[in-house]
Amino acid sequence: TEVVEVVKAAKKMVDLIGADVVVSVGRGISKDVETGIKLAEELAEVLGGVVGASRAVVDSGWMSADHQVGQTGKTVHPRIYVALGISGAIQHLAGMQDSECIIAVNKNESAPIFDVASYGIVGDLYKVTPMLIEAIRAAKAAK
Ligand SMILES: Cc1cc2nc3c(=O)[nH]c(=O)nc-3n(C[C@H](O)[C@H](O)[C@H](O)COP(=O)(O)OP(=O)(O)OC[C@H]3O[C@@H](n4cnc5c(N)ncnc54)[C@H](O)[C@@H]3O)c2cc1C
Repeated sequence: TEVVEVVKAAKKMVDLIGADVVVSVGRGISKDVETGIKLAEELAEVLGGVVGASRAVVDSGWMSADHQVGQTGKTVHPRIYVALGISGAIQHLAGMQDSECIIAVNKNESAPIFDVASYGIVGDLYKVTPMLIEAIRAAKAAK
């Protein structure tokens, strides 16, 4: 085997550690991965933050490894951490539970993420996230 050429990816790495706001997605986006990621990106944008992910998302190849939060990913301490469709496994919590304010959206009211959440919303992320985006945009416009 001969290496003919090495092409480096021009992709910009996400700065999770320095971010003030992190909006992370979990396997809860499996129904429609593209829309789930798009919603997370939109919410991160209105909040001035970046998008993170659980290991399930990275292992599924939906997002690159630099987005992973947790024991084998990055440890983050943002002002706001939003968890969309993340169950709250101990290995994920290890990377985000010291965030100042944790907002969790999960359709299962018994999900362990609610044990560490400052605000918990029991619901479908595909319905709740657009409402959050709209409410934040409206609040900003009213300022
Ligand atoms: C050695 C080791 C290291 C690990 N390191 C990490 C790590 O660094 N980071 C990490 O994240 N994990 C890590 N893991 C994996 C970890 O144990 C979990 O498997 C993983 O965190 C689960 O990811 P998840 O919460 O996205 O998926 P799941 O546990 O499958 O949870 C998906 C959640 O989405 C909810 N949901 C589904 N559909 C919707 C919807 N439409 N709307 C709202 N909610 C919905 C479900 O109710 C569920 O709670 C590690 C595991 C091991 C063994």
